[in-house]
Amino acid sequence: MTQDTRAPATVALHADEAFRVDHAISPPICQSVTYLADGPEDFARKAVEPHNAEFYGRHGNPTAKRLAKVVADLEGAEAGMVLSSGMGAMTTAILTFVRQGDHIVAQDGHYSATSNFLRKVLPRYGIETTFVDQTKPDSFAAAIRPQTKLILIETPVNPLMTLTDIQAVADIAQDTGILTLCDNTFASPINQRPLSFGIDLVVHSATKYIGGHHDLLAGVVVGRQDHLDAIWDMSMDLGPIGAPFDAWLALRGLRTLKARIDLHNANAMKIASFLKGLPGVRDVYYPGLVSHPQHDLAQRQMTGFGGMLSFDLKGGYEAGLKFVSRLRLCLNAASLGGVETLVVQPAVMFRARLTDEQIRAQGVTPGMIRISAGIEDGDDLIADIEQALCGA
Ligand SMILES: *Cc1c(COP(=O)(O)O)cnc(C)c1O
Repeated sequence: MTQDTRAPATVALHADEAFRVDHAISPPICQSVTYLADGPEDFARKAVEPHNAEFYGRHGNPTAKRLAKVVADLEGAEAGMVLSSGMGAMTTAILTFVRQGDHIVAQDGHYSATSNFLRKVLPRYGIETTFVDQTKPDSFAAAIRPQTKLILIETPVNPLMTLTDIQAVADIAQDTGILTLCDNTFASPINQRPLSFGIDLVVHSATKYIGGHHDLLAGVVVGRQDHLDAIWDMSMDLGPIGAPFDAWLALRGLRTLKARIDLHNANAMKIASFLKGLPGVRDVYYPGLVSHPQHDLAQRQMTGFGGMLSFDLKGGYEAGLKFVSRLRLCLNAASLGGVETLVVQPAVMFRARLTDEQIRAQGVTPGMIRISAGIEDGDDLIADIEQALCGA
C-alpha cells in the first residue's frame, strides 16, 4: 500500500480512504471477531497472512487496520499495527526483538511502566538493560555490548521534559544491526517524526494525543514491514491486539490531530511563559522556552514543542497540594494528551511508597507540578492557574 505523503492535516483525514466500505465517509466499527472465507484456499491464506484483518479477531480487525495506516503515514512508516494499549505496543515490540542473553540500552528516565518492564520483568527472562544519561549521546554508544539488540529512547520525557538527540542515537545504531525504538507519545507525529532521523520503530500510547479525548486505551507501533510482521507474529501468541471500538475512537480523534496539537502547543507555550516570571515558581520545564537546557535540540528535531510542561513551586509539597486543590478549570487527573487540561503533582503519587530522597532521585521535587495543556482558551487557563497560585 502506497504511503500518503501529503501534509499531516490531510493525511490524518484521508490516508485510509482505500479502506472505505459501503461509501461511508465515517469508518464503520467492525465488531465481528470472525470472517467468512471464500473457500479452503482463501481460508488457508488468511490464517497465516500477517495483519490479516478479516480472519479472527486476535489477528487484527478492519477498524484497527485503518488506524494503523493513518498513524504509519503520519510517521512516514511503511507499516503499522494497533495494540490494546501503549504498554501493549511497547512490551510486544520489545519482546519481539530480544531473547535470553540479549542486552538493551535505555534511558535513566522512561514512562514508569516501561522502566518497570525493563528493570523488573525482563531480568527474570535473562534480558539485561543498561540505563544511560539521555542528554549524552556518547553514553548510549558507551553502553553498547556485543549482545546489544535494542536501543530504547523516549523524548520529551517526564518529569523535566528532557530530550534525547534522536539523530545522534540513530547514527550510533546505524550499521550495527542494533534496532532503535522511540516512544513518541509526548510529541505526537505532528511535532516530531523519529523515523525521519533514522530510528527503526516508533511506539505511541494512542490513549494520549492520538485519541485525544480521554476516552480510549490503545497503542500503535510503526516501522518497516518486516519488523511489523515480526511484531504481529509475537502478538499472535501474546494476544494484545487493539479492539475495534477503541480503534474507532482513536481514528475519530486522529482526524483533528493537527488542529488539536496546534492548540496544545500554543497553550503550553503560553502557560510556560506565564509561569516563568513568577516569584513563587523556581523552575519551568518546557522545551519551547529558551531557558530549557536543550532548547536548541528541541528546535532541531521538533516542529512544535508539545503540550506537556512541568514547574517547581518554591513552597514545596504543601504549596503543590494547595495549588492543585485551588484549581477550578484545570483538572487533577492522571493521563495526558486530551482536550481537557490535566494537572498532577507527581510527588503525591510517589509519597505512599518512597521517601523524599527517593522521589528526588527520579528527578521529581516535592513541589513539582505537571501540566498537560488542553485546548481550552489560553487566557482562561492562565486565569485559573493565576488564582490557584495565590494560595500556594
Ligand atoms: C501513557 C504512556 C504510555 C503507556 O500507554 P498506555 O496506553 O497507558 O498503556 C507509554 N509511554 C508514554 C510516554 C505514555 O505517556
